[in-house]
Amino acid sequence: MTAPKNLFVGQLNTPDRVALRAAFKGVFERRFYTNHGPLVAAFEDRVAERLGVAHVICVANGTVALMIAAKAAGLSGEVIVPAYTFPATVQALVYAGLEPALCDVDPSTHAVTAETVAAALSPKTAAIVGVHMWGRPCDVEGLSSLAEDRGLHLMFDAAHAFDISIGGRKVGGFGLCEVFSFHATKVLNCGEGGCIATNDSAFAAACRTAANFHDRAGDVETPLRINGKMSEAQAAMGLVGLETLDSVIEGNRARYAQYRDRLEAAPGVRFIDHAAGLRSNCQYVVLEVDPECAVDQMALIEAMRVNGIAARRYFYPGMHRAPPCDARHWNLPITDRLCRSVMQTPSGETTSRADIDRVCDVIEATIDNGTR
Ligand SMILES: *Cc1c(COP(=O)(O)O)cnc(C)c1O
Repeated sequence: MTAPKNLFVGQLNTPDRVALRAAFKGVFERRFYTNHGPLVAAFEDRVAERLGVAHVICVANGTVALMIAAKAAGLSGEVIVPAYTFPATVQALVYAGLEPALCDVDPSTHAVTAETVAAALSPKTAAIVGVHMWGRPCDVEGLSSLAEDRGLHLMFDAAHAFDISIGGRKVGGFGLCEVFSFHATKVLNCGEGGCIATNDSAFAAACRTAANFHDRAGDVETPLRINGKMSEAQAAMGLVGLETLDSVIEGNRARYAQYRDRLEAAPGVRFIDHAAGLRSNCQYVVLEVDPECAVDQMALIEAMRVNGIAARRYFYPGMHRAPPCDARHWNLPITDRLCRSVMQTPSGETTSRADIDRVCDVIEATIDNGTR
């Protein structure tokens, strides 16, 4: 009998290789590799159409997209942002010369709400960055009215949330802008890549200018420029990936549903049903280990690792306990709790139904045998 295969978190949705080879052939034939070539232009159009937004500016990755958006918005002072997020959300703001004002998140959705953001307001607040955690829209309505009342800019880190909708409207057009990532582990994989989506023409022009050192028609005055360009190779991968995105999401949904059916009622863990009632990309399978569970988060992850299952905790230790923000003391109890209880399990197109059963068997057996 062969040993069971190793399973990883961070699923890679690989575009069709034959189509990708043909797209690359075109890049070589045109000898047009970067500087807003035809594939980047086409990819921007296709993404804008898919998200239902007026402008999409494609860049090298999601982190650079956040940096450029924060800089192009001309902000100064504090920006309220959750501590429970991928480090890029917070560090991009620091790169843009802003001061992160960290806030807590809602314990059930793991995302910011108007209430958690309000606790971090100060006279220096310039903007709010909401994160659509696990691809579930954060409190867009509440944050929009809070931002409007206080005269603050509102942006969203939508890195998890490509092709998600709220009440029939796609994530992408809310706030001043929404930022996406096309990193290899995201639902749409360009290897590396990202974009800024906005309905604001002046802001779009500022982002376009800021993302490129080369002057072009339509450039406007911007405080600072950077080489944030997306290459033709990345756009080729994105265009080909868009062709199979629907079937990728369909596969995600089936795997997600299988996990939910097995784990929804399992003792000791809480299956975070971030897709209930939504059109979600189902890219993330997220569990919280209960405080009363017979094993703790790290013991469960270790037991899975021994069985060839590379489950991982997220986003330990929290941005409030990591440089550069840890120089200050923050009181964010929900973030602390989630960092010690949340884990993701392997999913993705190479994860079979049998693999998911194996993962769930290991989780259940470990908890059954646990002695905390
Ligand atoms: C992936 C991710 C980013 C950063 O995107 P990159 O393309 O990897 O730079 C930002 N925020 C969140 C929430 C992410 O998951």
